[in-house]
Amino acid sequence: MNFDLDERLLRAQEDARRFAEERVAPDAARRDREKIFPNDLLRECADLGYFGFLVSESEGGSGLGNLGQAVVLEEIAAACAGTHVTLSVHNSLVSSPINKFASDDLKSRYLRDVASGKVLGCYLLTEPGSGSDAAAMKTTAREDGDSFVLNGDKMWITSGDEAQLGIVFAVTEMDESLPDTKRISAFVMDFDDPGISFGKREPKLGLRASSTVAVFMKDVRVPKVNLLGERGRGFNIAMDLLNGGRVGIAVQALGIARAALEAVTRAFPDMRRAGRPIGKSQLARFRVAEIAADLDAARLLCWRAAWLRDEGREHIAEASMAKLFATQASNEACRRAVELLGEAGYGSDHVVERLMRDCRVTELYEGTTEVQKLVISRQLL
Ligand SMILES: Cc1cc2nc3c(=O)[nH]c(=O)nc-3n(C[C@H](O)[C@H](O)[C@H](O)COP(=O)(O)OP(=O)(O)OC[C@H]3O[C@@H](n4cnc5c(N)ncnc54)[C@H](O)[C@@H]3O)c2cc1C
Repeated sequence: MNFDLDERLLRAQEDARRFAEERVAPDAARRDREKIFPNDLLRECADLGYFGFLVSESEGGSGLGNLGQAVVLEEIAAACAGTHVTLSVHNSLVSSPINKFASDDLKSRYLRDVASGKVLGCYLLTEPGSGSDAAAMKTTAREDGDSFVLNGDKMWITSGDEAQLGIVFAVTEMDESLPDTKRISAFVMDFDDPGISFGKREPKLGLRASSTVAVFMKDVRVPKVNLLGERGRGFNIAMDLLNGGRVGIAVQALGIARAALEAVTRAFPDMRRAGRPIGKSQLARFRVAEIAADLDAARLLCWRAAWLRDEGREHIAEASMAKLFATQASNEACRRAVELLGEAGYGSDHVVERLMRDCRVTELYEGTTEVQKLVISRQLL
């Protein structure tokens, strides 16, 4: 067994760390405060290949794979979780499915543009009445000539109003005797198509540099050739993608927790409590040790799941374990960081205040903590 990253990934990690420190971190607090979507940064990310980790170089991506994505995006998450989620969704839930499930024709029209970052994508699964229970969706796609006509509302869509295309899920099989999971199909939907409109940006606790909106579809005509994968197999596609997406969110949690630990260790030399440096307090040292151990465990779980996915091996439970552990550990790390820094950490101008807010959602989206437990236990039992 070899725990070392190979030369290529080490270089990618080094480059990403430098980019994150020099270009992403400095303005992260302002992006959060003023809710600025990071358009300029995303253009730089596109030039660095951060839109196409899961697509080969010959097709416009970087070909670094899931492990490479985990290594690079940990650095981005440590600097700005809002920028991270925009990239994570695009890679795991947009470039990846077009690469994996699209017909040759569909690929030739979309893959290079999404993998190179010329266009930004989003993933439209959640609806007002269906979050964890995604199969209960109500959006329909009815056949009409050489198109499907889509009607329905999608909620909480990351980058919805910034994206040029989306991977959208809708019920195509109207026979209600079929199980819900066999009635859904996936499509690549061009946002130029008439009939698409957006809600206002959701005000939210964290990830304020990212955009989250409702997307409404009224008689949107999507050509039949934009069907992604087989008709009626959309639910399986959605679930397969979420296995990859979950590793992405586990990595986001990991990056956030690392930033929290770094904020604490940076502050310690100047902090005194009860007349002595806080770094001499055994309680404080034990807290730091616990966070550091959790971080390492989370990283190993993330890398294992990413590696298994790259190898095309079974990884459903492993992806959920990575997300379950990393997101819980990260929330605890952020809570401890605020505790250790005292009132300074609670102030809105301190980085750990933002990290604590950003971290909360990692236990909610791409499957809640409870859903991860259901997935893991289902695999075991
Ligand atoms: C910032 C943000 C960005 C998002 N981006 C996207 C996106 O880009 N695309 C997209 O499609 N969606 C997106 N979502 C939606 C997200 O994936 C859902 O919020 C998530 O799946 C949970 O669904 P829900 O909010 O409807 O919660 P619910 O499913 O209603 O769950 C509520 C609570 O019930 C628990 N629960 C639910 N079912 C069970 C069960 N069977 N057993 C035990 N407990 C259960 C849950 O764990 C949770 O605690 C985003 C959400 C947020 C907050």
